[in-house]
Order: sequence, then structure tokens, then C-alpha cells
Amino acid sequence: MEGTERMGTELVVGIDLGTTNSLVGTVREGRVHLVATADGDLLLPSVVGVGPDGRVLVGRKARNRRLLDPAGTVRSIKRRMGEDVRVHVGSTAMTPPEVSALILGALLDAAERDLGARPARAVITVPAWFADHQRQATLDAAELAGCAVERLVNEPTAAAVAHTTGQEALVLVYDLGGGTFDVSILERDEGFMEVRASQGDTRLGGDDIDAALAEHVLLRLAEREAAAVRADAHAMARLAEAVERAKIALSARDEVRIHEPYLTGEGASAVNLDLVIRHGDLDEIARPWVERTLTCIDTALRDARVTAADLDRVVLVGGASRMRLVAEMVAAHLDVPAQLADEPDRTVAHGAALLAGRAAGAAVDEVLVDITPFTLAAGVVDDDDRGLFGSSLTAAPVIPRGTVVPVERTSTYATMFENQPTVDVPIAQGEAERLEDNQPLGAVSIEDLPPSPAQSPVDVTFRLDLSGVLHVTATHRPSGQSATTTIRNGPSRLTAQRREVARARIEALRAVEVAPPEPAAGSATLDPGEERLARSLVRRAERSLEGELDAALRERLSSARAAVCAAIEGVGDLGDAVEALTEALYEAY
Ligand code: AMP
Repeated sequence: MEGTERMGTELVVGIDLGTTNSLVGTVREGRVHLVATADGDLLLPSVVGVGPDGRVLVGRKARNRRLLDPAGTVRSIKRRMGEDVRVHVGSTAMTPPEVSALILGALLDAAERDLGARPARAVITVPAWFADHQRQATLDAAELAGCAVERLVNEPTAAAVAHTTGQEALVLVYDLGGGTFDVSILERDEGFMEVRASQGDTRLGGDDIDAALAEHVLLRLAEREAAAVRADAHAMARLAEAVERAKIALSARDEVRIHEPYLTGEGASAVNLDLVIRHGDLDEIARPWVERTLTCIDTALRDARVTAADLDRVVLVGGASRMRLVAEMVAAHLDVPAQLADEPDRTVAHGAALLAGRAAGAAVDEVLVDITPFTLAAGVVDDDDRGLFGSSLTAAPVIPRGTVVPVERTSTYATMFENQPTVDVPIAQGEAERLEDNQPLGAVSIEDLPPSPAQSPVDVTFRLDLSGVLHVTATHRPSGQSATTTIRNGPSRLTAQRREVARARIEALRAVEVAPPEPAAGSATLDPGEERLARSLVRRAERSLEGELDAALRERLSSARAAVCAAIEGVGDLGDAVEALTEALYEAY
């Protein structure tokens, strides 16, 4: 397509693979162009599930499906990246990279539809604080989705790239998303943009505040009611949706009513949720989480060797930064005004798209210098001769945190014994002195060494690439033997065999034939959880219809309500009707 930045015929896109939402974009005719997904929105909810016909669903449809099938619908998979776990998409057990590959696949499909060609390469953003195995898992996901990775870019760095006004010298970017928090301090100087420090927490975000708010709601229920809700996965999924909506509404209002009739139980033991949450309640619940972000800010300032007074600007990005408390607490803590970005949930994607444009050959007007936010170390024996055997190991930093990437550093150690047959170098990430107190990344081993004296030198080279992924080589100098492996034993790293199995699983899900529609089921065959949900949606629709609505939405809501009522009586498909009504209710909210 004319004007789209490509190298030769290759299309390069920028992808924000977010915990809650994902986006894809590129540079077209010199401007960032974010792509609308199949649902028509720019934001693709990072949710994966399976529809009643067995077909895989990604995005809004999957988010709606979660209400009917919480056990078979996956959200916030980003928080599990790098873990050796399986989650269920419908009845298929999948690894986190496989689920992320389905999300990436949906984004690539959307880009192909919109831009006229399938992207060949992508710049993908990850939290600055993502560790090596989480980055590796992201690369695995891209590989499974059939997309080459131009590079991984740290999210706050991408956010800062999007804010290229060129005015400010020192900018703090605060990024509070659904699942992760990052803060970076960037310096801009005559064509350079340098990341001075990055800090963060991969387990802190809007999801945590939702969970705390859900807990608050459960505590306000009678004990028996709370226990009944906790025991019912459908009810918990509805509660999670309801509290997230309430949290979002409270960024613009002072109070909000959470009304979920027939949340669980039947007849006299039915639990009807109906309570009001005030802005002050949310502030109190969110405060400890926002306080944790302030601690990260302080560390980042120290690492960058600046004080708050040196900052020219504080930019807030990420959807959860929309909570009013965030700007208040950050500004009070730093004594500098904190400004919410224009489109806080699109900023990172915007930066990724710009970087993709550059990768595809658009004019480069600024050199981007990024750093590693954590120290990478080799494990050595804690004594003077720096031997490589032993049980109590010290973490010897090879690449200290704050080092500019890409970087290659070599440290030389020594064998401990004469004729030592193997050398095994454990590798870890973190700031602790003892190896075991850091996060293990694996080890590199050289085996079957020929006889050589004790204290033979061993060179250990760490290469940290532009994506923040580590490659390690160890060489036994006397024999020249080396182990050229990168990190092994990473919990999620794909072997060739696992890759084939994973691909087959993904293909099977994507290729399911759509079964002919089932004959309309009578109400007697409805699952009680589904029926309860349907009846509750009908009530909610009725309540919304009592209020003020624009004519088109009123019409949609009322026909969607009628379709659900009909489906409860056995006429038409309940899943489709519930989905349409959920959508309409979202808009009416
Ligand atoms: P992101 O990962 O940047 O897409 O951010 C997603 C997170 O932002 C989720 O936890 C959302 O609930 C949250 N969020 C989105 N809009 C708002 C809002 N207006 N107020 C509070 N949180 C929001």
C-alpha cells in the first residue's frame, strides 16, 4: 500500500502486547497509523477463549465469552509469561507463549486486512522490568505467530519515543498498565535519547486494584453470601468485570453503584449484589499499590543520579494512570506536576509504531540509547582464586544494571582443580551478592575437557542484545573448547520439538470447522450459571432502559434484551444473544 513504510516489500509493524489490551500500528505517509482490529476498535482486549462452535476467539468476543466460560477463557496472560504453566483455552491446555501467539496472530490478521500485506517483522514492546525468561517467552510467542522480531523495546522507552516534542531534557515516564508497572528516566540531548534508569514491577497494575476492590465488595457481603460467590467461578468472573467497570467509572465520577442481581444461588439463597462504591473507597484501596510505585520512582531517580527537582516533565501513561489518585500521589511525592498523556493507553503502541517505521527505513532523527535495568552475573566460588566449582556461590556481575545495550562483556575465571573435566557456569539476574538470592537464568557448561592444570583460565562472555536478551559463551582457554549455547533451562524456552507441538496446537484451534448451528435448546437444557447470568443481564438492561439513552442505543439494548429473553425460552442461540446484550450494556454504562 502506498506510503506505508516498508523495507523492500516487507511491512514492519509496532506491537504493544499488553496485559489488558494490545495494539498494532505502523508509520504511513510519515504519520503513525494504528490499525483497527476486527471488532472495529484500536484496542484488542488481550483475552483468548473458544466460542460455542469450538472456534478460537480473541479480543472483545473472548472478553464477553469469559462471562459464560470463565474456565476456558484466558486473560492477563502476560503476567504468566516465562512461567512453566498451562492454562485452558476451551479444553486445550496451552503455554503462555502459545496464548500470546494467538493474540499476536489476531493483531497480524488485522494489520494484513488494513494495510494490504501481512507484516513480516515487528517491534514488540515489553515491560522494562521483564526478565530474560519473560523476554524469551515473548520471542517464542512471536515465532509461533510466524512473525520475525525486529527488536523488543522497553515500554516506557517506547512511550518516551512517542513524546518526541524535543523540548524537555529530562523526562520521567510513569507507566501503570493492567498488570505491570514501569518507570524510566530519559534524557534527550541533541539527537540522542538516552534511558538513564528503568525500574518497575511486573506484578503491579490495575488488575491488582481490581482484585482488591473485589475483595472489598466481598467483605461488605454477609459471610454466607461471600462464600457462595467465591465458590462460583461464573459469579467471580462477573464480579471481576463489575469492579473493573466501577473502577473505570470512578475516574470520572464520585460514586458508582455496582448492581449484579442473581450473582449466584437460587430462590431464597440468591445473592443479589447492590452497593455503592465511593471515590474515597477506591482511593483507600488503591493507595498501597500506588505507594509501591513511588518506591520504584525513588530507586530510578537514585540510579539516574538525579533528583526530582531536575525533572523537566513527568508523563503518566498506561490505562490505570487514569485513576485520579495516581497523578495526585506522584505529583505530591515529587513536587513536580504529573501530566496524564493524551491517550494513555495508546502511547506505548504509538512509540512502537514509530520505531517500526524507523526500522523500515523512515528518517532517523534521533539515536535511541537504552539500558539494562538489572545486573547480569555469573556464579563463582566465594574465594580469592575465583574458581568455578563449589556450593556457596557469589554473583559476580558481568553486566551491571544501567549498562547501555547492546553490550558484550567478558570476564575471566579459573578452573579449581587439575584435570577438571567440566566447567559449569550458573547465570543469574539481580542485585544480590549471593547467587542463590538472585533470579536464576540457567547455566552454560563445557564438558569433556582434556587434561589441564588447576587455575586454567575460562573466559565467560555475556552479550546482551538490543532486545535485552542474553547470550552467553564460555571458553576454556588452554583447549579452546567452548560452549556457545545461550541461556538454557529457561522455563519457557522452546525446543524444536516443543515448537512443533505448540504450532500444531495453535493451528488446530485456529482451523476448527464451524459446526452447523445446534437446534435451539429448550430452557430445560440451559446451564444454571448461564441462565442466571442471562436473567441478570436482562434486569440490568431493564434498569438501563429506565434511564436516559440515545435512541439508537435504546433500540439496540431493547432488541438485545428481547433476544436473550427468547433464548432463555429456547428460541435462538443464548451465547450470541448474551454477547450482543453485553456489548450494548457496555455502551450504555
Ligand atoms: P493498559 O495495560 O495500559 O491497557 O491498562 C489497562 C488497565 O487500565 C486496566 O487495569 C484497566 O482497568 C485500567 N483502566 C483503563 N481505563 C481506566 C480508567 N478510566 N480509570 C482507571 N483505570 C483504568
